[in-house]
Amino acid sequence: MKRLVSGVKPTGRVHLGNYFGAMKQFVQMLESDAYEYECFVFVADYHALNFIQDAKEMRRLTYDLVKDYIAIGLDPKKVTLFKQSDISEHTELCWIFDTITTMPYLMRAHAYKDAEAKNKEIVVGTFNYPMLMAGDILLYDADVVPAGQDQKQHIEYARDTAEKFNRIFGDTFKLPEPVINPAVATVPGTDGRKMSKSYGNTIPLFASKEEIVKGVMGIVTDSTGDRPENVYAIHKLFKTEEQLVPIYEAHKGKYKALKEALIEDIEAVIGPMRNKRDGISDEQVHEVLKEGALHAKAIASAKMREVRKKIGVTL
Ligand code: ADP
Repeated sequence: MKRLVSGVKPTGRVHLGNYFGAMKQFVQMLESDAYEYECFVFVADYHALNFIQDAKEMRRLTYDLVKDYIAIGLDPKKVTLFKQSDISEHTELCWIFDTITTMPYLMRAHAYKDAEAKNKEIVVGTFNYPMLMAGDILLYDADVVPAGQDQKQHIEYARDTAEKFNRIFGDTFKLPEPVINPAVATVPGTDGRKMSKSYGNTIPLFASKEEIVKGVMGIVTDSTGDRPENVYAIHKLFKTEEQLVPIYEAHKGKYKALKEALIEDIEAVIGPMRNKRDGISDEQVHEVLKEGALHAKAIASAKMREVRKKIGVTL
């Protein structure tokens, strides 16, 4: 059985980019008949700590993300849903990787370069992010890591780090493969740029009907051409191109009607998931994370025993 590992940071409301770019793949692969995947999906709370430094907010966002996971169809009986911080082996392995990784190598990471270009004061946690992510993935001998395009380089960092460790200490880690669906590798936001919390151009996955209306009506359209490209790009997430052709033909140049059609299509997908999510309690989240941590811990601690032996800290 192949193993799938992936996570999302609890840094705000999950949006359509997260869902179509990554989270939907978790569900599809869980249900795939071709392969049976053993799935480990986590809340990347220690990654989020680079951004969320308020205990109350961190707790709320963590509950929210687990509810999101369950509501999109990740059945906790079939998937190990857990919190990164519950498994201290992630940070332990990160440290070990730090000792075999050079500064110039980490300085080539896109996320670091972007932050530097914006003249931001960069915390060590942001600089080091790829090593914690390598720990997240390699600890579980992941075969596949579904993610959006923006995570491709980080998965390559995990592969490189596995190779380097194996070269120095002997064969220990499996090399993971990214799974990036080209059709949704970079989901655009309401302004046509990559949908991202930091650009303020998102439509939340669990948006209310009013929020969907607000988000869609706010999609930037230019007045040239018959087809509003930014509307179409988001519409393509919900309907096939064949289904869209007659709609865009019938409403040529009528941007408002096209936006209304998009609102209906988004609501048809989100509505049932939103109802399911409303029925999930904090207590249920607690139970799910407790169970998930037990299972993840068993695997992670066995792997770390092996790693400690390899590096010679076990006497
Ligand atoms: P964000 O990028 O919103 O801060 P995360 O870094 O936690 O959120 O990303 C969670 C997953 O969602 C990652 O696999 C990431 O690649 C994916 N993702 C985020 N934004 C997009 C997007 N606009 N298009 C495709 N995938 C995306």
